[in-house]
Amino acid sequence: LGRRINAAVSDLTRSSNLDEKAFDGMIKEICSALLQADVNVRLVSKLQKSIKAAVNFKELAPGVNKKRLIQKAVFDELVQLVDPHAEPFKPKKGKPNVIMFVGLQGAGKTTTCTKLARHYQSRGFKACLVCADTFRAGAFDQLKQNATKAKIPYYGSLTQTDPAVVAKEGVEKFKKERFEIIIVDTSGRHRQEDALFQEMVDIQSAVKPDQTIMVLDASIGQQAEAQSKAFKETADFGAIIITKTDGHASGGGAISAVAATHTPIVFIGTGEHMLDLERFAPQQFVSKLLGMGDMQGLVEHVQSLKLDQKDTMKHIAEGVFTVRDLRDQLSNIMKMGPLSKMAGMIPGMSGMMQGMDDEEGSLKLKRMIYICDSMTAKELDSDGKMFVDQPTRMTRIACGSGTSVREVEDLLTQHKMMAGMAKKMGGNMKNMQRAQGAM
Ligand code: GDP
Ligand code: MG
Repeated sequence: LGRRINAAVSDLTRSSNLDEKAFDGMIKEICSALLQADVNVRLVSKLQKSIKAAVNFKELAPGVNKKRLIQKAVFDELVQLVDPHAEPFKPKKGKPNVIMFVGLQGAGKTTTCTKLARHYQSRGFKACLVCADTFRAGAFDQLKQNATKAKIPYYGSLTQTDPAVVAKEGVEKFKKERFEIIIVDTSGRHRQEDALFQEMVDIQSAVKPDQTIMVLDASIGQQAEAQSKAFKETADFGAIIITKTDGHASGGGAISAVAATHTPIVFIGTGEHMLDLERFAPQQFVSKLLGMGDMQGLVEHVQSLKLDQKDTMKHIAEGVFTVRDLRDQLSNIMKMGPLSKMAGMIPGMSGMMQGMDDEEGSLKLKRMIYICDSMTAKELDSDGKMFVDQPTRMTRIACGSGTSVREVEDLLTQHKMMAGMAKKMGGNMKNMQRAQGAM
């Protein structure tokens, strides 16, 4: 999707007679790319109008960077779409917060409820899991295994067949034991069925959740709107988690679900592992969707500054990007300034720095560097994957650097994203070098 949109924009800026007709053609191309990415039809047509309104072609002053302007308009409109401007639920310490998961079978509920419990556990909440999936054989076993691995207390039954009864028993037991985050995993069906919806209502009235979360597979596609509406009507969820964003799906379905239900996405699943859960950030999500972030521009700028980049450049050319590479980039950015301009060139960084002035931005960069400096040499030279399964290391690093676990996680997320870009770019650069060598 990103490639198609960027191609449409560059075609426009490359064509010598940059007229309104070419501009219209470009918007059409962008919209068809969005449709293909499963963004809902009606949304796309709304988007089309707002982009046109945002970029008033006739009144563009000569000399403005039209490409950037148009890209920014598309970006801003998409961010508007995934940002419902509604505050998501925040659990409170010292009281039981009951969270119920709903969604179709295979959406990722069981996997995600463990991830979420671990997330809160690592932030000092007393968290536990209740398995109210009595429909699928093996459901309780799956939850048990995940929970045991994450050292999270759980409750379930192999004999009780009424999910509402199990849910109630589990929630009551854990409330008595003063748990603060009680997550109830429910069953799904392959399709939306009356039986599923009846079960959701029964469990909801049995445990009276403080928050219901709908789990949606990123590859849901055009059904996202209808499905999330149907779930919203029955279970009135207050938050969405999108899973499998690490897959091939472009995430257009997610945008449609938010727009259809006016409900915020709170987290995204980025892999099968327990730590593959990230807080949802609209700007970051959209820049990923659009493939934005001008890595190439950054590399060129860095080269022109003749900073010590040898290792990183060599790494990127090999498709590798270590945590130390990230640290070096951060400290180079500090030297390069102005920060806001530089940050915009790094994929994902622009979202992170959004709304910060240069001073706040440098403070944030400094804290990221402190985090890196609290790592061991082995950790710095790694691909960052070693932190998976090592929440205690992350806590240590947070302590050592005077930051928070959240910041350490954010840094690793940032690194993971950049490593992914480097991997892609490495391939391209190898081809480029081969082509140059042939000349
Ligand atoms: P449930 O039926 O809704 O409980 O779904 P499960 O939690 O059992 O997940 C179904 C499958 O999706 C499992 O194989 C999970 O490992 C996988 N899965 C869940 N979340 C993610 C994710 O974020 N990324 C990837 N790649 N796989 C995921
Ligand atoms: Mg399940």
